[in-house]
Amino acid sequence: MARVYNFNPGPSTLPLSALEKAKEELIDYQGTGMSIMEASHRAPEYDKIHNDAQALMRELMNIPDNYRILFLGGGASTQFAMIPMNFIPENGSADYVITGSWAKKALKEANIIAKGNIAATSEPDKFNHIPTREELQLDPNAAYVHITTNNTIAGTQYQTFPDVKDKPLLADMSSDILSKKIDVSKFSLIYAGAQKNLGPAGVTVVIIDDHFAAGAREDIPTMLSYGTHIEKNSLFNTPPVFPIYMVNLVLEWVKAQGGVDKIESINKQKADLVYQTIDESDGYYRCPVRKDSRSWMNAVMRLPNEELEKSFIAKAKNEGLHGLKGHRSVGGIRISMYNAMPLEGVEKLTEFMKSFKQEN
Ligand SMILES: *Cc1c(COP(=O)(O)O)cnc(C)c1O
Repeated sequence: MARVYNFNPGPSTLPLSALEKAKEELIDYQGTGMSIMEASHRAPEYDKIHNDAQALMRELMNIPDNYRILFLGGGASTQFAMIPMNFIPENGSADYVITGSWAKKALKEANIIAKGNIAATSEPDKFNHIPTREELQLDPNAAYVHITTNNTIAGTQYQTFPDVKDKPLLADMSSDILSKKIDVSKFSLIYAGAQKNLGPAGVTVVIIDDHFAAGAREDIPTMLSYGTHIEKNSLFNTPPVFPIYMVNLVLEWVKAQGGVDKIESINKQKADLVYQTIDESDGYYRCPVRKDSRSWMNAVMRLPNEELEKSFIAKAKNEGLHGLKGHRSVGGIRISMYNAMPLEGVEKLTEFMKSFKQEN
């Protein structure tokens, strides 16, 4: 069996140890005579997985006690709608920082439900940077400020989070959760679809401050109310049992690596290597992103022409380097190097970049 280096942007590579453990336990989960997929979500075996995953998440991200950790269905995209439904009051609005396609989708939902203000946007610059705090125009009446910490398509990432004073700060961290140390207490709500850094698609993790949650509206459908899931510890209905089981295995892997500190230092090495290779290529590889906004998770770049880009992707694939095609909306090359991408994969890729440049 040959596993490739998988640079897919999402769903994306998972730690081999997590996949192997799942394989081992797939048809007989710890002597129960059935798969965890076939077990009741009220059974003690599942209960332990559910609670272990929450406890590990709390430990690894240093999440304070006044935050709940939820496992919901519907992807990060459902959060785009749930957030304004729950937190924008009648005739109210919320502020959105527009740094890419996902931020725009979040804003669109806010505008369907209530009113979303554009606090700042880098769209006129093709999303090549993260607006600074000084550039944000916050509405004093806005219910919250929403940011997208890593922009998976544009290849940008917040290096520091904006201080929005007394406003609740909410973040879509789908593509950089658990990739570096963050201060959770700065946020009222964090959400992330699992399929980039946490596990397979099918579960979305929501980390929410109790006090903030207490102010949610109640005139909304039961399944779309955070209160429902907080009250029932994400067991109001059948949760995505198997994805949560996988998330737990991925979190165990993170802990075994040495926790988020260690993961962060490896992620920095990977990103430094990629950007250094781009910057030292005499303009052969060009990263359109401003240096102060470059993402450690998704590096985007262009080659001298589209023919060469096509050839780069095909030849890389022959070398066991998969998933490097840029998003269809922007083209070019995208190097997604989430937590589970080992340093060796990025070393192999940067060696390939150098030899491809030589040959072409
Ligand atoms: C992938 C991604 C999403 C979409 O997540 P779904 O779970 O597919 O809804 C949202 N936001 C960001 C930043 C993403 O990278």
